[in-house]
Amino acid sequence: MPVTVNTVSDTKPPRSLGKAVWNGMKLRCPHCGKGHMFKSFLKVADQCEVCGEELFHHRADDFPPYISIIIVGHVIVGVMLHLELAYDDVAPWIYMVTMVPASVILPLISLPSIKGAVVGMQWANRMFGFDAASRRDPGLPSYP
Ligand SMILES: [Zn+2]
Repeated sequence: MPVTVNTVSDTKPPRSLGKAVWNGMKLRCPHCGKGHMFKSFLKVADQCEVCGEELFHHRADDFPPYISIIIVGHVIVGVMLHLELAYDDVAPWIYMVTMVPASVILPLISLPSIKGAVVGMQWANRMFGFDAASRRDPGLPSYP
């Protein structure tokens, strides 16, 4: 059986997943960590204003809300279970004035950081258009 040797070397510079996700969680550019990732609440900037890294290649889609729902759901259910076990007969209105607002506010607070982390993860893994070599035309985004 002939032995094949891979002669194609990977010349792409390595990207740190942890650093990119952390920079994204801080709402900063996954590449330089200095520029802003978002141009509005959840709208990712087209490119970093500091290093020029193209950020419009991301496809976070519904993944950040799924993560937010999982995290907030566990917090809400945990607090409700604690209240039910620690106190006798918790009135329903207490849940209405605490858990319902928390169910709205906590996802809104956490979504930008979670979306930033997802975009950072996609950038570090060169997903979608973040890998210039995989694009048909490097000057164009990879959208069909
Ligand atoms: Zn940057």
